[in-house]
Amino acid sequence: MPPASILIVDDDPNNFDVIEALLDAQGYQLHYVSTGAAAIAALDTLEPDLVLLDVMMPGLDGFEVCHRIRSSCTWATLPVIMVTALSEKQDLARCFSAGANDFISKPINRLELIARVQSMLLLREQYRQLETFNTQLEAKVRERTAQLQAIIAQDALTQLPSRAALIQTLSELLQAKSSAFAVIHLDCDQFKLINGSFGYTLSNQLLKAIAARLQQLIPSDGLLACLGGNEFCILLRQTSDLERIESLIQTILDSFKTPFTVSGLDLFVTACLGIVLGHSNYVCPEQLLQDAGIAMYRAKQQGTGSYQFFDPQMHQTMVHRLALENDLKLALDRQEFVVHYQPIVHLKTLKIAGLEALVRWQHPSRGLVAPGEFIPLMETTGLVVPVGLLILKQACQQLYRWQQQGWTHLIMSVNLSVRQFACPTLLDDIDQILATTGINPACLKLEITESAIMDNAETAIGLVEALRSRQIQISIDDFGTGYSSLGYLHRFMVNDLKIDRSFTSQIQILTSKYKVVDTIIALGQQLGLTVTAEGIETQPQLARLQQLNCELGQGYLFSKPLPAADIETRFLNGKDSPIMLVA
Ligand code: C2E
Ligand code: MG
Ligand code: MG
Repeated sequence: MPPASILIVDDDPNNFDVIEALLDAQGYQLHYVSTGAAAIAALDTLEPDLVLLDVMMPGLDGFEVCHRIRSSCTWATLPVIMVTALSEKQDLARCFSAGANDFISKPINRLELIARVQSMLLLREQYRQLETFNTQLEAKVRERTAQLQAIIAQDALTQLPSRAALIQTLSELLQAKSSAFAVIHLDCDQFKLINGSFGYTLSNQLLKAIAARLQQLIPSDGLLACLGGNEFCILLRQTSDLERIESLIQTILDSFKTPFTVSGLDLFVTACLGIVLGHSNYVCPEQLLQDAGIAMYRAKQQGTGSYQFFDPQMHQTMVHRLALENDLKLALDRQEFVVHYQPIVHLKTLKIAGLEALVRWQHPSRGLVAPGEFIPLMETTGLVVPVGLLILKQACQQLYRWQQQGWTHLIMSVNLSVRQFACPTLLDDIDQILATTGINPACLKLEITESAIMDNAETAIGLVEALRSRQIQISIDDFGTGYSSLGYLHRFMVNDLKIDRSFTSQIQILTSKYKVVDTIIALGQQLGLTVTAEGIETQPQLARLQQLNCELGQGYLFSKPLPAADIETRFLNGKDSPIMLVA
């Protein structure tokens, strides 16, 4: 270590000689200046560790010099000992308020001087250590921040730029006022299914393979980012050329036609894409990603392997959808869902055979809303599960009341959506409703669609069997509009086929659908199933169905769906007589 350097500032050179003599044996490097101005000027060249500063000097006095040292960025922590002949308490207080660390009175005592100098040099050393520590700490923080930024900028699984990195790039583009770019949001279809069937390890390998394949297709002005999960985003920096964008999209979609080989398995994946074009209206990158996401969502609604360009109308639809979703959640709490009942009639006798429970939403401002407007949304959000249970319970309670009134033969049909059918607690929930309402399960008929069955056929077989073992009847609703795969009918113990309204309505018109009704009725008879024709609106339709021996029917010709009280006054008020047809 080099010897400590001490700057002595005194207008009287004799005083320097005195100090020099007193500190002689200590091995310090002593410097001398005779004015305050010279002292300030010498700091940067001499870089002292301590200043011994005379108070009374012409020009800048000791107080002023000390004050300036304290105000300087570089020397603010440099220890200063005031050397003074003043002894009044307020003079010493002035020394400290000017920023001195210590003082020593003239005439100077050797031992005192040495002790005070040593103590101040120790302080200097501690400052130095603290500064070194601070510098190291700052460097560490900088290094760590850079590491974290690198982690944030990269997707851990695919090693692609992350959402944060993409947002940064998009910000730069927007700041540069560029609008000749396109953002493409790609989402792999039904990835949850892959996750559920093959587990996360294989799904992660698949995502890596997808990333690698996409990377090969990205042009030189493109950037492929991973938004997390099974979502990717492609930024094309220099294009607003629709043809070029569409050609890239087609290439991407085509590339998905080749399976991804992962762990020896060939996996087919499809993807949907949403595209948003750069526009001067965009100010923040999140907005671009949001719109690309909305377009992608639209593409999803069109089916797997689709793509859509964003248009502002989609935004409106999305806002409307979100508002509806919110309203629906509140509707459940506010008990705004009510059940209407539509009679199902024996076509031979025109006597009432049962009723179909159909949900309605009693909206505070819009009035009665039909299920077509909200069931599809409830299906995607999952709200159809609790609402469906509520309807099932209300319908069973109502059936119990009618049975108590003597209508013991009535069958109550209740719709079960795909989501409800896939709900793992379905059987328990139904058992509980049967137990609390006390109805005869044989009087309950559940209507499911072909897609509910085919979405997960193996589970569906077990479920249908479990329901049938409870004597509950099963009907296939909208028969013929779904998979139309007749093969499954042998495997499911269903009781009834419901002919969709779109076929019934064609009965009088000689189209190919005309024959569908005949065929379904014949098929039902062959398999020993009852057939219910839905949507009977006219006498000729009824006559034809009767001629074909279709057993049951439902439609506006008999009655529209009505509240329970109206059903009672119109159909359950006397003896079991044929239903009067609506003219
Ligand atoms: P769905 O189960 O096929 O019900 C028959 C639909 O056809 C009902 O429409 C009914 O009002 C209508 N309909 C019946 N006869 C005629 C007719 O002669 N002419 C015309 N034009 N229409 C007729 P709604 O009540 O609007 O229900 C539509 C769909 O919503 C139902 O089709 C069913 O899939 C679903 N849905 C209704 N209620 C529920 C429910 O509580 N749970 C579930 N999961 N879905 C329900
Ligand atoms: Mg139905
Ligand atoms: Mg139907």
